[in-house]
Amino acid sequence: MKILINGINANLRFSAAHLIPTHETCGCIHGHSYFVDIEIEGEKEGKFDFVVDFKDIKPIVNELCNSLDHKFLIPIFNDNMDFKDLDKKNLSMESFDKFGSVQFKIDSKGYTIPKEDCVLLPLKYTSAESLSEYFVQKLSDALKDKTNIKSISACVNEGIGQGAMFTKEL
Ligand SMILES: [Zn+2]
Repeated sequence: MKILINGINANLRFSAAHLIPTHETCGCIHGHSYFVDIEIEGEKEGKFDFVVDFKDIKPIVNELCNSLDHKFLIPIFNDNMDFKDLDKKNLSMESFDKFGSVQFKIDSKGYTIPKEDCVLLPLKYTSAESLSEYFVQKLSDALKDKTNIKSISACVNEGIGQGAMFTKEL
């Protein structure tokens, strides 16, 4: 049995800016109005024969969406982004703690973004593909005690008509 949550109708949305370093068109800062669809497959169980209660899932996804909303998404492990005063080999999320802004170069282009305008993500890209994996990872961490769940999928849509879906089998 599978439950589906439609991101548009369930209001699991966020707007954010990003870029795909060195990509011909997506390499310039631009934005999307994202929405996130969720599918969770598993055995029905418990008093109500649920796979999982919708009200247990939506707040988790909603919180993730809110954490990204109206921010510039920065993938700290991207090979083409050189962060000022930071060693690429030992980079972690904590590496940025001492800075008030995030400064980086992509080829000859330099960027300085105030920290409060960014979300740093432990990813190589902020593509729909990478963001869908990020959502699934966070959801599977949050749902690790629910042993009846067999798989979790998230489709991160960059607006209507294009999205990437990632599925994690548990
Ligand atoms: Zn884009």
